[in-house]
Amino acid sequence: MLNISGLKEGIVLDHIPAGKSMDIYRYMGLGELDCQVAIIKNARSKKLGRKDIIKIEGGLDVIDLDVIGFIDPDITVNIIKDERIAEKKRLKLPKKLTNVIKCKNPRCITSIEQELPHVFLLSDEKTQTYRCMYCEEKYK
Ligand SMILES: [Zn+2]
Repeated sequence: MLNISGLKEGIVLDHIPAGKSMDIYRYMGLGELDCQVAIIKNARSKKLGRKDIIKIEGGLDVIDLDVIGFIDPDITVNIIKDERIAEKKRLKLPKKLTNVIKCKNPRCITSIEQELPHVFLLSDEKTQTYRCMYCEEKYK
C-alpha cells in the first residue's frame, strides 16, 4: 500500500526504476517549481526490488505525462485528491516530444535557429528510438 500521508492534493509517481528519480526531477524542471517535492530513493518494491517514488504537492496542472512516459512508460502516476488516490494514469511512449530533449547535431537547423522548438518523433517503439524532426538525428 502506497503511503501518501501528508499529501492532500498532488501527484505520486510510483514504480520509478531505482536511480531514475533524478532524471525525472531534471526533465520535469521540478527544481524550478514552488510546490513541495519529496523524493524517496531505493524504496523496497515487490515488483522491482528497489524503486524510487516522487511526491509532488499540487502540481496537477504542471505535470507533463509525456515527459514521464518518455523516461519510463511503466511508471505509475497516482493523482491524489482529499488524501486519497483519485485516479491512476496509464502512460505510454509519447509519439512526439517538444522541448524535452535537444538535438545535438551541430548542423541541425535547431542549433542555428535558436528560437525553434526542439521536436523529436518516436521512430521505433520497440527500441524506444527518437529522431529529431528536422534532421532525423537519433537521440541517445
Ligand atoms: Zn536535429
